[in-house]
Order: sequence, then structure tokens, then C-alpha cells
Amino acid sequence: MESTNQHYDEAISSLKRERYRITEPRKALLRLLIEAEKPLSAEEAHAALGADCYDLVTVYRNLETFDSAGIATRIPTEAGKSLYELNAEEHHHHHIICRKCHKAERLDHCEIEKLETLATKLGFTEVTHVLELYGVCDDCR
Ligand SMILES: [Zn+2]
Ligand SMILES: [Zn+2]
Repeated sequence: MESTNQHYDEAISSLKRERYRITEPRKALLRLLIEAEKPLSAEEAHAALGADCYDLVTVYRNLETFDSAGIATRIPTEAGKSLYELNAEEHHHHHIICRKCHKAERLDHCEIEKLETLATKLGFTEVTHVLELYGVCDDCR
């Protein structure tokens, strides 16, 4: 598992490569996402960063920027909200998300490669997939 600083430096490099400015709010948000080690909503990130420094719209826009720059992934919830997680190159995974409290747990297993192989056999290239599972967690049951 790569260190926090290495992950941070790589993400900053990616932002620069995509010609995004490295602002203080973006740096703070990046550190927060790395340290959280779980997907966060804009509201959660906003609360953690301190409402005095960063308004929610800025947090939301910067999360979208991270998604566009390819350093974070947006995870849709059933309620139409979004969670954001930093991309980790080393392992592909999915999530189970609580539809009540939006807690997200990582599922390290993926069976979808079989479907991707089928899609490839139909002549498609650059096949990817998005899959999230939803349920009710132990705390909310
Ligand atoms: Zn829950
Ligand atoms: Zn998968």
C-alpha cells in the first residue's frame, strides 16, 4: 500500500498534467480524501474541512474537478447524492452503500470482468463498467 505522501504527490502531478490549478482548498480536500480512506460526500468533506474556510459550493466543484482530472471517482447513491473516492491504481473494487446513512464499504471482489470479456467478443473495445450495490447497514437496520 502506497504512503499518504506518495498518493498526494501523484494526485497533484495528475492535476498539473491536466492543467488544473493547485489551490489551497484543493490541497486540503485532497489530503482529507487520502486520510479518510473511504468515499465522502461533499457535505461530509465540507464539515470536516471547517465551514469557515471553504463553502460547500467550492468543495462540490473541487470534487467534480478531481473526477474530471481522473484522480477521484464519483459514486452515485440511490438517493441521487454523490460520494467521492480517490482512485487507487493498484486494485479495482466496488462498494456497498447504506441507503440510510450513506456509509460505504469496499467490496474487493469483482466478477464483472466476465461480462467485459463478453462485450469484447461482440467487438467492443475500451470496455469499462460502473457498479455499486445498495443496502441497509448494521447500524441503520
Ligand atoms: Zn447505515
Ligand atoms: Zn468491477
